[in-house]
Amino acid sequence: MNIIWARALAILLLQAAIAAAVGWLLGVRAGFITAIVLLVIQAFFNVHHAQRLWRLLDAPVYGEVPSALGLWGEIYYRLHKLAKRWHSQVKQVEQQHARFIQAIQASPNGVIMLDEQNQIEWCNAIAEHHFGIDAKRDLRQQITHLLRQPTFVHYLAAERYDEALIMYHMGDRRQNVLSVQAFPYGDNRKLVISLDVTDIERTDAMRRDFVANVSHELKTPLTVLSGFLETVGELPLSAEDIQRYVEIMRQQASRMQNIVNDLLTLAKLEGNAKPAGDERLDMGQQIRSLRDDAQGLSQGKHVVEVDAVGGLDLRGAESELHSAFSNLVSNAVRYTPAGGTIRIEWAPDAGGGARFSVIDSGLGIPPEHIPRLTERFYRIDRSRSRDTGGTGLGLAIVKHVLTRHQAQLQIKSEEGKGSTFTIRFPSTRVMHGEIKAPAGLAANG
Ligand code: ADP
Repeated sequence: MNIIWARALAILLLQAAIAAAVGWLLGVRAGFITAIVLLVIQAFFNVHHAQRLWRLLDAPVYGEVPSALGLWGEIYYRLHKLAKRWHSQVKQVEQQHARFIQAIQASPNGVIMLDEQNQIEWCNAIAEHHFGIDAKRDLRQQITHLLRQPTFVHYLAAERYDEALIMYHMGDRRQNVLSVQAFPYGDNRKLVISLDVTDIERTDAMRRDFVANVSHELKTPLTVLSGFLETVGELPLSAEDIQRYVEIMRQQASRMQNIVNDLLTLAKLEGNAKPAGDERLDMGQQIRSLRDDAQGLSQGKHVVEVDAVGGLDLRGAESELHSAFSNLVSNAVRYTPAGGTIRIEWAPDAGGGARFSVIDSGLGIPPEHIPRLTERFYRIDRSRSRDTGGTGLGLAIVKHVLTRHQAQLQIKSEEGKGSTFTIRFPSTRVMHGEIKAPAGLAANG
């Protein structure tokens, strides 16, 4: 017999026993009335608790166990246990759900969940940022009403999702390039994943430009060279002409060599992940050698001045720094007409740093060009740069060397008056020591 029946029977027997006892003491009539009263009390008791249970099921209060006698007490207790178990299961599922949402929010990709009608069910913050949508406001919105680009609408409708779609989207301040791919799941639902590939695209475009620039730079001297080779090979030329042509060919070959050498230097600098070395550079000696180089290049056409503070050395990769310094010096000579002045300065700088400056009284640079001078192959005047043996890579090399030495390049210039190129080294790159060369060595060329 099951426990509920057993208990009900026990109560019934108890009631019968009470009624019988009353009947035996006070007569049959009193016993009968007692039996009825007990049954009515029990009915009220049951209805009261049924009502209480009803209310409890309508608005459950977790953690509160209603007290009651007998079977009802047992029912409340069991219900309470059941509710507690469900409650903890629901809590667990909620926590799992919250963690899942946190994980998708932490993803670097945009994630949009679409229902079977392509309405937004949920999206993470990155997707909001990528597409300019609002997770709350745009909930249940048709995605194609928000992202109206025909390529995207067509991509979604065509249902060929094995490839990603490249989308151009206006972001906060710049045009973003997004790689967007849909993944079907469940009952005709979709997950739309977006990835910001703006930087990858930009790097790709830069690489393409670079290859095109290199090809163009090498093509010109190569065309000249092969033209002259043909002429020399096919036409009867005087010894004088041949000599002239060979000289032109030698110049073109040397131009190509310069470009290739500069490209190799750049590639070496870019590919070098190791920080720049810690060699001590004797700046007195560097400045003397730069002055000699400037005089050699100028061939007496300019005044070369030097003002260097002694006992101030640098810590870094000697060959790299020397190439950066001599690029600035050679530019100053090349872009300063005969009779001008080139001044090389080396002095302490604010915060324990040091600065190296090359000041010329040359052509100067229009302000709009200054921010772009360190780009590879950027030149203000192509023909002048070529005539003076420039490759268009000098300042790009300087910039790389300086980045590796935590130094900065400052360019000040006035058209027609001259330019000042200053390299500022931080204190960590500066070494103070005994004065090996007299400070302020001055030389005129
Ligand atoms: P290039 O080999 O053409 O000199 P750089 O990268 O060294 O290439 O310089 C880039 C451009 O910056 C040059 O083509 C030139 O137009 C300009 N430039 C650099 N230094 C000076 C300077 N001292 N005075 C005027 N223009 C300069």
